[in-house]
Amino acid sequence: MTYVRGTNDWDVICIGAGVAGSFATYLLAQSGLRVLLLEQHAFPRTKVCGGCLNGASIKFLKDAGLLGILETLRSPTTRQLQLTNGTASATIPIAAGRSVSRQAFDAAMVEHAVAAGATFWDRTKATVQPADKETSWRNVECQRLDSQVTLQSGIVLACDGLGHPSLRRMDHFRSHVKTDSKVGLGCVIPLRSEWPAAETIHMAVGATGYVGCVRLENEQVNLAAAIDPKDIVARGAVPAIRNVLGEANAAKIALESANIQGTRLLSCDSARVSEARLFLLGDAMGYAEPFTGEGMTWALRSAQEVVPWVLQVARSRLDPQTAANLWQQQVKTARRSRRLCHRLTSLLQYPTATRHAIHLLSMFPLLAKPIATKIGAA
Ligand SMILES: Cc1cc2nc3c(=O)[nH]c(=O)nc-3n(C[C@H](O)[C@H](O)[C@H](O)COP(=O)(O)OP(=O)(O)OC[C@H]3O[C@@H](n4cnc5c(N)ncnc54)[C@H](O)[C@@H]3O)c2cc1C
Repeated sequence: MTYVRGTNDWDVICIGAGVAGSFATYLLAQSGLRVLLLEQHAFPRTKVCGGCLNGASIKFLKDAGLLGILETLRSPTTRQLQLTNGTASATIPIAAGRSVSRQAFDAAMVEHAVAAGATFWDRTKATVQPADKETSWRNVECQRLDSQVTLQSGIVLACDGLGHPSLRRMDHFRSHVKTDSKVGLGCVIPLRSEWPAAETIHMAVGATGYVGCVRLENEQVNLAAAIDPKDIVARGAVPAIRNVLGEANAAKIALESANIQGTRLLSCDSARVSEARLFLLGDAMGYAEPFTGEGMTWALRSAQEVVPWVLQVARSRLDPQTAANLWQQQVKTARRSRRLCHRLTSLLQYPTATRHAIHLLSMFPLLAKPIATKIGAA
């Protein structure tokens, strides 16, 4: 992507060009602020993700005038979730969603942010410096190839995903990681058979984790898994995925030439999500259980909801520390709405209970309504 060099002071610096960072950048640039979006990887980049946008995510895009992205990408519609676990299988209708390849979707989001007036630097790794009480800005160190530059910004948004690596110099933002945390694995591969079926999110659940598959645009398949890291070390990534698919009795999928990518431990959670002139968004605040596909909704929602606070601080209508306190409080309230994610995470730790749950769902599909609502419409 184009690398546009700007001056070195900004109203807002957004770190991370995932869903949260590009959406926040787009909204703030539209409001007339000078926004710089920084991304450590060359763009477009791949990202381990199930790629399923639920109804709530689609509504955020629609309200922001970004629904055209899904049409341009020809992203397929999803209408049902098929759960398999050995002998148990249940098909649950869900409200219409869409599946996207994160490589194409994230690049399109960044293009819209740039079109709205923002500046984008990819291949730029950012590190936020601890606050200096004397100044009315934050310093952000940027490493790009061989050069290093320190930028100043009135506000910094850490949208840098799991474990918020850009805050590594600040111990008080350290994430809590659960000991039983899984690791994400994923790839995009060509569609070679009728499986996965059109309009269906397939979810295979095994003892060591689960694997989701869905069709993408251009005859491709997105595969995303969350698996026990001990099993990945013992077997290797591809055998660990195959093992879950085999245990669940799911259809075979050709993974020989797949370029499997991994994540860090998934269950990162940050108790602290702000301080003066610094706000955390999306996965940087804490991970959302991938099973329910709420991660991108959480990222989009946090980006939209932080905008009023950022605008008020940028226009000197609100003290930066008060804005930070209000964001901390708002996130605490929003987290309560994600209890379903946490309950599902707990259930998935127990393979027998999961199998019974899927059996029950196959007999009484209405029991799946709360899950279907979250996955489909939220
Ligand atoms: C296996 C799996 C399946 C999933 N399936 C779904 C699903 O189907 N639907 C759904 O809604 N969600 C799903 N999720 C969750 C979803 O992927 C995340 O919630 C979402 O991507 C969070 O967006 P984000 O913008 O907060 O972070 P990210 O998308 O992770 O973006 C963070 C960006 O910051 C960049 N970055 C990091 N550090 C720095 C730095 N120091 N300087 C500059 N840039 C930096 C990274 O390179 C990255 O591009 C899944 C997750 C996993 C692991």
